[in-house]
Amino acid sequence: MALKITTECINCGACEPECPNKAIYEVGTVWKLSDGTSLKGMVQFKSLLIDADAVQVPKSNKVYFIVTEKCTECIGFNNEPQCASVCPVDCCILDINNIESKDELLKKKKMLHNEK
Ligand code: SF4
Ligand code: SF4
Repeated sequence: MALKITTECINCGACEPECPNKAIYEVGTVWKLSDGTSLKGMVQFKSLLIDADAVQVPKSNKVYFIVTEKCTECIGFNNEPQCASVCPVDCCILDINNIESKDELLKKKKMLHNEK
């Protein structure tokens, strides 16, 4: 499943450069699915069809946030979620509202980076 950042976040910024999928954004930042990925044009995520190049509104105006569609639990890159590894206050946690199997996460990672 994807990870999420809780309101315990102290906005230190340590996690953001560690994400291999550019799924983490600073508080109040606009984002795109195409940032740091190979995605372009219309992309299907579960039941959602999203324009990868469209500028999206920030998911949080209080703390750093994770774009669920781009989080793969770091599968295919690292053995453990890098954001959780570096967070000084342990506020990067599994998002039980976005449950995905390891196979689904690996498939997502390949889709994000246009791998076969
Ligand atoms: Fe990025 Fe990995 Fe954290 Fe997901 S678990 S947000 S892919 S660093
Ligand atoms: Fe927030 Fe933790 Fe990321 Fe720092 S490392 S910005 S406290 S989620």
